[in-house]
Amino acid sequence: MPLSNPWKISPAVAALVLAGCQNERPLPPPQPITALPEPVVAPTNLPPRPPPPVWQDLVFPTAQTGLLKGDLRVFMPTLPQHPESGLFGSVRSGTKGQARFHEGIDIAPLQRDRRGEPADAVRSVAGGVVGYTSGIAGNSNYGKYVIVLHTDPVGAVYTLYAHLASIAVKPGQVVQAGTPLGIMGRTSSSPIPRERGHVHFEIGLLHNERFAPWYRAQKLKPDHGNFHGQNLAGVDPLAFLRWQQAHPAGSFRDFLATQPAAFTLAVKPPRALDFFRRYPALWEGERPREPFPAGTVVVLSCAANGLVLKGRLASEAERVALLRAKYAIGGVNTAVLGRNGSHLITPTRGGWALTDTGNRWLAALLY
Ligand SMILES: [Zn+2]
Repeated sequence: MPLSNPWKISPAVAALVLAGCQNERPLPPPQPITALPEPVVAPTNLPPRPPPPVWQDLVFPTAQTGLLKGDLRVFMPTLPQHPESGLFGSVRSGTKGQARFHEGIDIAPLQRDRRGEPADAVRSVAGGVVGYTSGIAGNSNYGKYVIVLHTDPVGAVYTLYAHLASIAVKPGQVVQAGTPLGIMGRTSSSPIPRERGHVHFEIGLLHNERFAPWYRAQKLKPDHGNFHGQNLAGVDPLAFLRWQQAHPAGSFRDFLATQPAAFTLAVKPPRALDFFRRYPALWEGERPREPFPAGTVVVLSCAANGLVLKGRLASEAERVALLRAKYAIGGVNTAVLGRNGSHLITPTRGGWALTDTGNRWLAALLY
């Protein structure tokens, strides 16, 4: 698979994703993503060169503009007595009390049609290209959903819009900030009652280009290619939107650098992680040789939902500590893990271990 087309989309689309979309207002030439921007030195009488307008036209996913005002009534909780359950994070519990992570925000409708169904237009928050649409409601707990890919100095950033009643775009289509993607709804593989119709919105990074073959090798269905929810790792959309208002010229890469890790994981991957090939700015320090010398240990700093924030080669002490173990979890920050703890790691007598969900997350990440 050539580096220039990591998402198995048409070469023209991939070129747009990687090089910046040809909007009416053309983007400046893409910046190298492996290096920090050069400090701007203004020539005499000329203003400094403006930063790439990646997110500066950002709009909210619907006409609801009150997302950052602290009023939880603009969100749609799973249960009315738990208003925070419409937000991002470890805000939900399973039937056995286990932690369940909500990787996006659920925005309530402003409009309903004559039958009481949600009727808000759902729109792309920023310019980009449609990476995937899933039009069969029962094929995912996202229901009908759209993924838009955005160019950012960190690499491709995805936004996701789920539970749509209808979809108005096609994969490969170039969209602007505000382009309608579809109509809010309540589609899902498990029923959502009419009064709970909402749009589930996510923003984040795609974990592994090799996710699709990993998933197919296990004969799992339905097949969403690399755009399966398990391969999508979101950040708190409200945190990003709030941060972006304060830093209009900032990039998603800049925002990620502000996000605290929930835990670190030292592990011996069988090969270099595809993740750092596509998001090289998130790797720190010396790069491992390819193929990996036997026993190469990498240390991943992870958010509570498994989003990899940083990676590096292990120190000698960390490498020796992992001679007999499959992995080692450290640096656990329970405040960052959230109210319900993590669905990926669990305390044991001697420390921390991966849960079944955590083992699946790691297998898909390293495949
Ligand atoms: Zn949701």
